[in-house]
Amino acid sequence: MTSYTCVACQSTDWFGIFQMGDVPVHCNVLWPTAEKARCAQRGDIRLVCCRNCGMIYNRAFDETLLQYGEGYENSLHYSPSFQQYATTLADGLVQKYHLVDKDIIEIGCGGGEFLSLLCQEASNRGVGFDPSYPTAQETPQQPAGIHIIRDFYSPKYKAQQADLICCRHVLEHIPTPNKFLSNVREAIGDRTDTIVFFEVPNSLYSLRDMGIWDIIYEHCSYFTESSLARIFLKAGFDILDIRETFGKQFLAIEAKLASQTSNLSCEETSSIGEVVDLALSFGEKFRKKAEIWKRNLEYGAKEGKRMVIWGAGSKGVTFLNAVKAETKIEYVVDLNPHKQHKFVPGTGQEVISPDALKAIKPDVILVMNPIYLEEISGMLKERNLASELVCV
Ligand SMILES: [Zn+2]
Repeated sequence: MTSYTCVACQSTDWFGIFQMGDVPVHCNVLWPTAEKARCAQRGDIRLVCCRNCGMIYNRAFDETLLQYGEGYENSLHYSPSFQQYATTLADGLVQKYHLVDKDIIEIGCGGGEFLSLLCQEASNRGVGFDPSYPTAQETPQQPAGIHIIRDFYSPKYKAQQADLICCRHVLEHIPTPNKFLSNVREAIGDRTDTIVFFEVPNSLYSLRDMGIWDIIYEHCSYFTESSLARIFLKAGFDILDIRETFGKQFLAIEAKLASQTSNLSCEETSSIGEVVDLALSFGEKFRKKAEIWKRNLEYGAKEGKRMVIWGAGSKGVTFLNAVKAETKIEYVVDLNPHKQHKFVPGTGQEVISPDALKAIKPDVILVMNPIYLEEISGMLKERNLASELVCV
């Protein structure tokens, strides 16, 4: 493999932290049969950490293996808890930046759910960009004032000006995040009042809080506050705010075009030493946690317990593949109807609805994200199910 220079700061001072071979390249493309799911395209993860800026990157990443087409489905908006989070976030942005009767762009808008939240209450006009937006769901269902373009956002759309440019859970998929941000900067032109809002997974949640199932092939970049701040500053933005959100699982950053005086410098946001220390011990911690869960599943299977997983997103797919749970877990529950009756890449479990649990009556439900524990508990009560809930 060729030498590596940090994608955020171009430093060559890096170290390897973790390797995982043959993982499905897409966690969010589910399959019509278990056989096809087990033959899903695979790739390698080789995470490295930059000592200079704390950026973590998969240097084995090959973007040609990925296709963000129509089968890509990663909406979390079917969960009432997530919906609540998104609504509060959208309301907060509208109020903070007085976004009423304004133009809003969302890059990577999925089905346009968040863009609608930003637009509908405050009479804003929204334009969303997403190549995976399904043709079948076009205009009749699109809320008033929202237009979705089935394409990647690029400088060719620079005429499309905005008061807010919003981009959630996209940057970590981009092999050249610096270039991506420079394109956004170029598209803004000289509109110094345009606000830029980005949200990415918080890799400190994986390193510090051991949310290890967030390590997926689709994410080549893993940002901490320090590396995220650095690439925004480098691309010519002033940082207005940077913070952990969603139970510390996400990082949110608000920025605008740089003036002479930057509000926040790299040094002020820096926690590089902590990131490097955590990265040094991460590989061993991952191995131990995966080993414990392999044993737990073997023990459960030996006891004859019916075990299912709740959550067919990145965390669930990574967990099933990392612990090789092919025969011990039969089903994965997910609220997203577009995922139900499809099969998990790599390991081939069927995704089912919460209602389907009434026939299965699992002894144990493994909850992939602790933030949904209360919501799941409520849904089980409604269905008179007494399964034990265990956070993974
Ligand atoms: Zn770096």
